[in-house]
Amino acid sequence: MNSPTVAIVGSGPIGCAYARIIVEGLPDARVVMFEAGPQVTEPAGSSVRNIADPAAKARAREMSQGPQAGSFRESLGIPDGVAVEGMFTARQGTFLLDFGGEGSAHAEQFPAAAASNNVGGQGAHWTCAIPRPSFSEKLDFIADDEWEDLISTAEGLLHHHGDAFSDSAIGRAIRMILSDEFGGELPEGYGPSTLPISGDPQPDGSMVWGGSDMVLGPLIQDGTPESERFELRDLNLVRRIEYDGARATGVTVEDLRTRETSFVPADVVVVAADAFRSPQLLWASGIRPAALGRYLTEHHAVICTVALDAERMGGLVSEEEFEAELARRAVNAADPVAAVNRIPFSEPEHPYSLQVMYAENPPFVLDPDHPAAGNRWGYVNMGFGVRKHPRPQDRVFFDDSELDYRGFPNMTIEYELTERENAEIAIVTERLGRLANAMGTLVAGPRLLPNGSSLHFMGTMRAGVEDDGTSVADPWSRVWGFENLVVGGNALIPTANTMNPTLTSVAIAVRGARKIVDELSG
Ligand code: FAD
Repeated sequence: MNSPTVAIVGSGPIGCAYARIIVEGLPDARVVMFEAGPQVTEPAGSSVRNIADPAAKARAREMSQGPQAGSFRESLGIPDGVAVEGMFTARQGTFLLDFGGEGSAHAEQFPAAAASNNVGGQGAHWTCAIPRPSFSEKLDFIADDEWEDLISTAEGLLHHHGDAFSDSAIGRAIRMILSDEFGGELPEGYGPSTLPISGDPQPDGSMVWGGSDMVLGPLIQDGTPESERFELRDLNLVRRIEYDGARATGVTVEDLRTRETSFVPADVVVVAADAFRSPQLLWASGIRPAALGRYLTEHHAVICTVALDAERMGGLVSEEEFEAELARRAVNAADPVAAVNRIPFSEPEHPYSLQVMYAENPPFVLDPDHPAAGNRWGYVNMGFGVRKHPRPQDRVFFDDSELDYRGFPNMTIEYELTERENAEIAIVTERLGRLANAMGTLVAGPRLLPNGSSLHFMGTMRAGVEDDGTSVADPWSRVWGFENLVVGGNALIPTANTMNPTLTSVAIAVRGARKIVDELSG
């Protein structure tokens, strides 16, 4: 095919992975990416965490909060001045789907569900943890050798860094405590380790955090041949996927600056607009496979905050090492995370993911009179991710008779934890308490976060091997019944997963994008 055009909906890491593989794999192809939100960072899609100026950072976050940006901010429940950004703290840069006003979704059973509305998507606000899935978290229809290649490619796109903060003596001490507590029950290779992250370490010890900009790479660098064939249109809301029988023909797009609507023809359409808004767009376009919106999962999080015990830590870290670490961190005080460790999912003994983040300050304002306030050895925020077993009745519904704030069929989420999940939640709650005692004094928790808090929503457009009503997409992420309509994102993950899913979703996207390259060049 001569000079094919690929239209991509959404500029998060997944849409960008498609763009990169397609532009690099097809020398004549042109990719047009539509993003409903504004560009809030420079370079486009980069992490807000890289913005040094606090006021500029706050503004970038606020501009990403969709219908709740600006003056509606308080109704989001996102507190101002949260001290530490992290896995289990308030999600600035996002807005609740059920924000409570007119045009809001209905999500009483999944109240913390949230999304971002900006170039880079949630990938401009994420924590950048990119662990690999393991054991039954993996997709069983992709062979191990291909999976290894896909996941390594995904790690390359996300600028994988495997030993972030590994020089932290406190991080090392935390790993020793984790080994003491749980080491005996973990299989070889699945013990405590540093948490892999997306980012580029800098010579001064700081980090440039990863985002969609890194995934796009040469596509957004001035003067590269790739940039000439890539166009990113922000504030462009895709209203409908157009199709003729089994072929997508393009997208109908509203330019939110001018309010003009136009049709953009395309040879392939990729929808990567998150786990709720992608199925919503398919539904609004009349594309309604039986599994669309069903099998919703996330990983549930049981978390706590601990003030590290001076005596315990002093036995594992010398005063000199501690002083040196404090001095090094003072160089980059704006980025408070100082060490991130984990114990990955393994079966059968440890079907959970534990993530342990160390920082000098707690993730909330602690009363100065609190006995743990101003703890010299700092604080650990940690939590277990617990899997949710997929069920068709955990789902998002779309209602054609009630429109949301964007004019799309409104969403209602129905979701329930069952005995299976509650049993594992009880086990990790006990384990977390035990671990907290081994590390110091509990300041908060352990507690189960409200449904939706992980922000890792999966299953609503799951991939499968058969068009049997339990999946939306085929093993190459093409919507069943369509030749050239491809979906991407965490929604494709069909398994019960306990950890940060973006790396997995980028790997799935690499597979889908390579298939597009093959087909368009063939
Ligand atoms: P998104 O990044 O959500 O991007 C989708 C984009 O599509 C959005 O920008 C949206 O505006 C746009 N869009 C929606 N509808 C339309 C439309 N009709 N037309 C045009 N554009 C549209 N994941 C991890 O793996 N590790 C982590 O450590 C981690 N931490 C996180 C911390 C926070 C605070 C948050 C918010 C998220 C975190 N995540 C993490 C989740 C991670 O960011 C997502 O998994 C990832 O961004 C998903 O990428 P995506 O491209 O599928 O979707």
